[in-house]
Amino acid sequence: MLLLTAVACLLNTVVAAGGLQSCLHTRLSPASTLVSPSSAEYPNATVSNNLSWQYFASAVVFVGSAEDAAIAVKCAAASKIPVTPRGGRHSYASFGSGGRNGSFVVDVTRLQSFSYDPKTTYATVGAGFRLGNLALALDAHGRATPHGTCTFVGIGGHATCGGYGLTSRLWGLLVDQIVRVTAVTAAGDVVEASPSKHSDLLWAISGAAPSFAVVLSFTIRTYPQPASTSYFDFDFGNFSDTPSLAVKALLAFQSFAATSAPPELGTQFTVGRSAGGTLGLRLSGVYYGVETAIPTVIQPLLDAIPFSPISNTSKLQGYMASVAFLGGDDPVNTTGRVESPNTAYEKSIIVPTSAPLSEETWTKFVEFAFNTPVPPGISSYYWQIDAFGGSYRGKRTAMAAFPSDANAFGGRDGLLLMQHGTYSDTSGSYPAGGHAFANSFAGTITETVRTEGKKIEAYQCYVDPLLSADEAHALYFGHEKTHKLKALKHKWDPARVFDYPHAF
Ligand SMILES: Cc1cc2nc3c(=O)[nH]c(=O)nc-3n(C[C@H](O)[C@H](O)[C@H](O)COP(=O)(O)OP(=O)(O)OC[C@H]3O[C@@H](n4cnc5c(N)ncnc54)[C@H](O)[C@@H]3O)c2cc1C
Repeated sequence: MLLLTAVACLLNTVVAAGGLQSCLHTRLSPASTLVSPSSAEYPNATVSNNLSWQYFASAVVFVGSAEDAAIAVKCAAASKIPVTPRGGRHSYASFGSGGRNGSFVVDVTRLQSFSYDPKTTYATVGAGFRLGNLALALDAHGRATPHGTCTFVGIGGHATCGGYGLTSRLWGLLVDQIVRVTAVTAAGDVVEASPSKHSDLLWAISGAAPSFAVVLSFTIRTYPQPASTSYFDFDFGNFSDTPSLAVKALLAFQSFAATSAPPELGTQFTVGRSAGGTLGLRLSGVYYGVETAIPTVIQPLLDAIPFSPISNTSKLQGYMASVAFLGGDDPVNTTGRVESPNTAYEKSIIVPTSAPLSEETWTKFVEFAFNTPVPPGISSYYWQIDAFGGSYRGKRTAMAAFPSDANAFGGRDGLLLMQHGTYSDTSGSYPAGGHAFANSFAGTITETVRTEGKKIEAYQCYVDPLLSADEAHALYFGHEKTHKLKALKHKWDPARVFDYPHAF
């Protein structure tokens, strides 16, 4: 019986996909390209950056115009095939491919328009931009905006899930910079959403876009580039001292982030281990100002860490040189380039400012790190712990000061942003034990916090596909915003044209 139901479902999908393709073939302009499963282009058109999660789309359309994007959504809605917008393909869960088989992927990477208005200092950027090219386009005007370090990440997903970078304590998240979007709604209308028109849609897109629309372009705030930037890196080596010293270091970092790190400072504490190795600890970051300020800024933290670095480096450079440096091996100009894929599982925790982690919680975390070997099939793991929000001299950083109700982003009270990545030692195949390991590791924090009756959150950009929709909504958006987003989903997309595993 189950088999018969599955076959019937598959047949329905195939018939619907056939209807979708014939609807599109006659209507799309030559600016767009439709790729169906029978096409030789299909494997390249569907592969995501994280090989752990790969999905078969019913079709992919690379849209070359707003009109074609609207046609694509209308045809999919008529065929009852769920639509997934896709940008840079860097969702850790491959949600740009729908997060399950059978979605219709509307890829926006051909939308590459850019303009800069010197009067408002806003830039209007096609949703197909990747972060490196965004930085380059703004650089031509001496401007910048906050975003993450990986140059291949797409603005489509990044700007709408949060968009954290080392300038976020200074300028906020990328989602906070959105002042206007042009988007295709579930009804297939091309609309502009701004504070004066469809403001509720703008609010929802600014945090939860894939449930609501295909964004075609973003109008964002920009900032003058800092005159210089100073990178620093303190390597504490392969840490084999007692766990209690590591706990003291993490407590010191947490309280430094809360009140003592100036907004010009983006900094992270990394705890990592390779298979067969011991724990590595590292403190690094960028001060958006001159190198001579670093000792004054960082010294209070170094004084509070009860062990010394085995080496340290610093690098004074201009803003764009810093973008290139932080991007590592990736080029800033990503045009025509493809990043090597990963096979990974990522999770996140946001530690709220209102509920910092207790010594007991950090102790459980550190004990797990010391006592648990890297599981079979995992080559390495890391915890990257970023100073996310916090205050300095009584004034909140830009990330913390942005009004929480101004957009749908959920982690506004965040003090620390913790990202956990576990990497497979075999490309394309993630080991079964890796998920349990990562969840137990994160559980040392989340479970202890829950027993203490405190709040814990997570970061949607580091999306965890093993969460149910309800769990994801609670962790990424919180109760109030989830309630509002569900009501807006009912208003803007009652037929669930935009659907994926974590959709509202
Ligand atoms: C190597 C790497 C480094 C990263 N570094 C950072 C970092 O420093 N800081 C940080 O905050 N995050 C970082 N991320 C996470 C990244 O911000 C998210 O994965 C982001 O969603 C990727 O966007 P994308 O367009 O590249 O991905 P896609 O897979 O194309 O899309 C991701 C999600 O956004 C939706 N989406 C994409 N485009 C649109 C659109 N035009 N309209 C509506 N919805 C859309 C998709 O449907 C999907 O749900 C990193 C990810 C990777 C893989």
